Amino acid sequence: MTTRWKRLGLGLLAGAAAMCAVGAEAATVVYHGFTLIDGSGTAPKADQAMVVDDAVITWVGPAKQVPRTPGAARVDLKRKYLMPGIVDLHIHIGTVRDLVQKEGYFTPDSVRKDLRTYAAFGVTTVQSMGTDKDSIIAIRDTGRNGPQTMARLLTAGQGLVFKGGYGGVPGINHPVATPAEAAAEVDAQAKKGVDYIKLWMDDELGAMPKMPYSISKAIIDAGHRNGKRVLAHVFYLADAKELVAQGIDGFMHSVRDKPVDAELIAAMKARGVWQGAATLSREAAVYAFAADNPRTRDPFFRQAADPATIAGLESPEREKTIATSRIYPALPRIDEQARDNIMLLAKSGVKYGFGTDAGPPGRLPGYSEHWELEQLVKAGFTPAEAIHTATARSAEWLGTNDRGLIAPGRLADFVVLNADPTRDILNSRRIAAVYIGGSKVPSVR
Ligand SMILES: [Zn+2]
Repeated sequence: MTTRWKRLGLGLLAGAAAMCAVGAEAATVVYHGFTLIDGSGTAPKADQAMVVDDAVITWVGPAKQVPRTPGAARVDLKRKYLMPGIVDLHIHIGTVRDLVQKEGYFTPDSVRKDLRTYAAFGVTTVQSMGTDKDSIIAIRDTGRNGPQTMARLLTAGQGLVFKGGYGGVPGINHPVATPAEAAAEVDAQAKKGVDYIKLWMDDELGAMPKMPYSISKAIIDAGHRNGKRVLAHVFYLADAKELVAQGIDGFMHSVRDKPVDAELIAAMKARGVWQGAATLSREAAVYAFAADNPRTRDPFFRQAADPATIAGLESPEREKTIATSRIYPALPRIDEQARDNIMLLAKSGVKYGFGTDAGPPGRLPGYSEHWELEQLVKAGFTPAEAIHTATARSAEWLGTNDRGLIAPGRLADFVVLNADPTRDILNSRRIAAVYIGGSKVPSVR
């Protein structure tokens, strides 16, 4: 046991599990020979090595200079590429089975199943955005900073939904009708130990009542009184401006009705508000399956989905339901606006992270993150910038300084790839292995 191990508060049993997973008795493992994409956005470095001591990276550098580590296990990663695990700041979890989302599907087992899927796809930390039952807290806290075979988790518990309005999952969230009710619900969430407070401000393109500003203000104030950052589902530019003025900490979707303007950008920068997630894969996925889509025949896609989910996505009836929906004609333009806006924000120096809104029907855990990387490149980011966003940038939002980079002192959460993702972002899918806290994650299917 290293002192670092003890500082992380990990038990002996968790340590033993990590050692078994790498097939050696040694608590120290040297990975060597790989090309490093360290998450910082700098150019890949060939022929590197990394020393992992229990759950934590203790050394990274040229393979020729690796320090003497008597008794360490060695893992040869020649011709491989190594990058930090993906940090997804916007997911939902545990409530979907065969393209149906239901309160009743949420169980500790369904949550763990999704967390294992995220992990197998190289997604090593996820922020669940407001549709969780209370059992999420104990799952989050199990082996929190140590070796894992599931993605690490943060949760917004039950996010705040306006009564009769948009957002949440019926039976899980507790809709509020007044500022006083909203403040009381925020207090209740904080008492449960959630990491963040989430609110939904949207009207489904005019179909539903939108949360009044008096309620969002009460939520933000109550969140801050409880020492919690408050994150918003937002759609309209005008609402984004009002929420920034009210003290919101981050947005969990792009503004999608209009281009972000100088006023919003200046206000976000002045107040340090994050564009926490652009959810570009969400904007693509909501209309991608309105007609036959070759994605459903992609083996990588099929690894992420149950056969019934694939059959559902390929069914002509479901395609027709999407293609004839009221909002369908507006969706391609919304998708394009989301892509344009994340580029505008990124270029203007607003802080931004990586998030997919994976989890609801048709937005597959694990696959969505690789689709998001693809969409970021489509929006105009280089593959290296997209990876930087999905790793170090998103980890910075967490404020824990313990992941998102391949660097000494960081958790050994990393992905080994068979091809260079900075040459072609689709190579992020060529996963050879995933490690969380130095523990190798089983593949799902
Ligand atoms: Zn969401």
